[in-house]
Amino acid sequence: MAKIVVIGAGMGGMACAARLASKGHEVQVLEHNKTWGGKLGYAEHGGHKFDTGPSLLTLPAVYRDLFLKTGAALEDSIEIVDLDTAFRYQFADGTVLKMPGTGIGKCAQAIGDTLGGNSADQWRQFMRRAADMWAVTRKPFLESELHGLKSLLALTWRVNDIRTIAPTKTLRDLANHYLTDPRLITLVDRYATYTGSDPRQAPAALATVPYVEQMFGAYHVAGGLRELGRALYERATSIGVTFEFDCTVTNIATEPRVSGVTLDDGRFISADIVVANSDASNVYQYLLSPAAQLTAKSARKSLAKATPSLSGFVILRAMSGKTPDLEHHNVFFPENYDDEFNSIFGINKKISPVAEPTIYICSPNDPKMTPRGDESWFMLINAPRHDPNDGVDWSNLELKNSYTEQILSVLSKRGFESRDRVTWQDTITPADLEKNTLAPGGSIYGTSSNGMRSAFLRPENVTKIPNLYLVGGSSHPGGGLPLVGMSAEIVASRIGRA
Ligand SMILES: Cc1cc2nc3c(=O)[nH]c(=O)nc-3n(C[C@H](O)[C@H](O)[C@H](O)COP(=O)(O)OP(=O)(O)OC[C@H]3O[C@@H](n4cnc5c(N)ncnc54)[C@H](O)[C@@H]3O)c2cc1C
Repeated sequence: MAKIVVIGAGMGGMACAARLASKGHEVQVLEHNKTWGGKLGYAEHGGHKFDTGPSLLTLPAVYRDLFLKTGAALEDSIEIVDLDTAFRYQFADGTVLKMPGTGIGKCAQAIGDTLGGNSADQWRQFMRRAADMWAVTRKPFLESELHGLKSLLALTWRVNDIRTIAPTKTLRDLANHYLTDPRLITLVDRYATYTGSDPRQAPAALATVPYVEQMFGAYHVAGGLRELGRALYERATSIGVTFEFDCTVTNIATEPRVSGVTLDDGRFISADIVVANSDASNVYQYLLSPAAQLTAKSARKSLAKATPSLSGFVILRAMSGKTPDLEHHNVFFPENYDDEFNSIFGINKKISPVAEPTIYICSPNDPKMTPRGDESWFMLINAPRHDPNDGVDWSNLELKNSYTEQILSVLSKRGFESRDRVTWQDTITPADLEKNTLAPGGSIYGTSSNGMRSAFLRPENVTKIPNLYLVGGSSHPGGGLPLVGMSAEIVASRIGRA
């Protein structure tokens, strides 16, 4: 049995801790915050409950596997809810596309009925290509360790696989190849943001994101997605994982090998193995000695080359009464989506909050989250990271207030005037996200998928420092609840049984 310290009680840290405890190890989780969950945040006001992080669950199979392997079925702990309408998309020309929850055929039909022409057929073909991409990439790129470009080179003899993935093409290129309606291109573009990226730079293989959503479903968790975190925390503790909150790891002892971590109050916690769920860039920059940083030189170099993912500007609103024609998930697209990506990533212009952003509203149709007859809105606007030196200083209160007002004006221009029904409102900026989760700049997904080599620049789960592992959204295979769960599986399998 090894003594294992996990730094951070995000979903990646807790998932890995539970898997390791079920393999017979002694596992202790050390968390900077007063509670578990990390980016899977939560807020409550006067009977209104809000997820402040993830609001959409895809690939629940990842968590089903975790729960089964650590004791009992996931559905014994939470209720996973299938939505009749997964998304209400409103385009700049006023078109409203209501996308069904699960089923590529049903989604194609909805697209055809709403957008007309041969859009349904085009979508089916696009999804068929995405299915092929999923088949090729799932095992080697998501469910296995990735060893830099070596992993790609190992595939080169499978010429057809390479052709399927189209590694030199971007998501936008692929959308343009299959789809002619600009509204469908806009729809596909949005999926790049699920990895915090720009569709004009992100790889074509991200077409697997809408494929997974439509093939395997888009789900809610009764009571909010935070309940998935609660279930995981309870599972981990029930099988012996111990948690300490309100403590920050300031150093990982690695000489001559991993022997433990130091906390901000000076205590040393010994360990045979350390699994860091904290952001990989913080691990490499702040938690290692100069000698260990040298050992991890190549990982540090790759990180320096990668573009950090975008962040998010969140507005929470308790609303009295019901908004006509609002679904659980709602997306209001702008006229000029490229301007949003240019502003976030500073392409041909200064990094800045875009004036006319895409607005996402999650208004859960869930009696456990909202007093009867009312609504609890979680609004998310993709935004540049917090970077007071070279980007946007989101700690500026004036900016926070004026951007909130700007977003609400844009929403009302898009036909949803709501100010007179607001009973409470709060805003979470990228600066708050950074403070709350210790993610540099408040990046939601660690490094972005911008660039052909992005997957290979992402930190590997197994570091060059023996017995130091990385788990969670800032390491391989990436951010979002499913991938974070997969990273936990990769790390736990690699460490193995006691
Ligand atoms: C606004 C928003 C919306 C999102 N929407 C979705 C969605 O709809 N669907 C989806 O699947 N995903 C979504 N995501 C992404 C998803 O939340 C993350 O990918 C996932 O929760 C990351 O989990 P993690 O374990 O990798 O890291 P984190 O959640 O960041 O957890 C890391 C933990 O480590 C702790 N920590 C860091 N450093 C230290 C230290 N030195 N000492 C002690 N503790 C430390 C932090 O406090 C934190 O609790 C969203 C995220 C955000 C912010």
